[in-house]
Amino acid sequence: MFALLGGLFFLDGIWFREQLCEYACPYARFQGVMMDRSSLIVAYDKHRGDPPGKPRDESAGDCIDCNRCVDVCPSGIDIREGDQLQCIACAGCVDACNDVMVKIGKPQNLIRYTTQRDAPAAPGESRPVVTRRTWVYIAAITAMGGMLLVGLVQRNEVAVQIARQSDGAIYRELPDGRVLNQYAIHVTNKDTSARSFDMRSATDGVEVTVPGLPWDIAWGQQHRFQAFVSAPRDAFVEGRLPFAVVIVRDDGSETRVDAVMLGPGSGPVAHAISHAAPLETP
Ligand code: SF4
Ligand code: SF4
Repeated sequence: MFALLGGLFFLDGIWFREQLCEYACPYARFQGVMMDRSSLIVAYDKHRGDPPGKPRDESAGDCIDCNRCVDVCPSGIDIREGDQLQCIACAGCVDACNDVMVKIGKPQNLIRYTTQRDAPAAPGESRPVVTRRTWVYIAAITAMGGMLLVGLVQRNEVAVQIARQSDGAIYRELPDGRVLNQYAIHVTNKDTSARSFDMRSATDGVEVTVPGLPWDIAWGQQHRFQAFVSAPRDAFVEGRLPFAVVIVRDDGSETRVDAVMLGPGSGPVAHAISHAAPLETP
């Protein structure tokens, strides 16, 4: 794994480089969506720099078209063409252009950190620290943080899954007239200490037999148990009987799980067996 990751980073460093930011990294897209006219960006001052020309040309702007800003750009873009997705705001072009401006005796910051709102097209226009978009983000982050908190507070320390099992027959008929279904129950102890669990039926007439109760489960562990659930034959409606079981933790907290028994009218039945017959037990 280390060799694989090392190889990937090496490949990225020697060949893929800025293409990772350009094509693979979602951050640039995300940032593009979040930006507004008050976001700090690296920008070229078109009003001052254009049209490019010789330093002594009266009709030309301050840009002398030396291309230094493009040469130093790790993303290979020309910032004079405007704000671009590929720009990683490294400010390499700012430093390069400032060096050029010093050499030709012009004011620095032809390329600089600024905002669209602070551009010379709107002189004197202030840049508000908090915009409407800021409030929207604050509201969204607060809502998400609140949901996370509620999720943490309401976090169930027991996870239970119940799945009906079938060994060729959908259900079995017992000699006493009851219908038997077999279930696999997965119980996960999400608490930070070992816990003991018991289980009982929460539906009148439905009996649950689970070998090995109570279950002792170490923290963070999941165990699979088999449960044999039986109900009177006449309790089924169109072959189905919804029922519930309750998993009781040693501190008294309960977790209810709903499931459905299948009985007469729902599919093939196994040969009748008695309670004394060996059932599959874990
Ligand atoms: S800030 Fe960096 S990435 Fe952006 S245009 Fe300038 S040199 Fe290129
Ligand atoms: S480094 Fe400055 S002067 Fe040279 S091309 Fe870029 S913007 Fe123009």
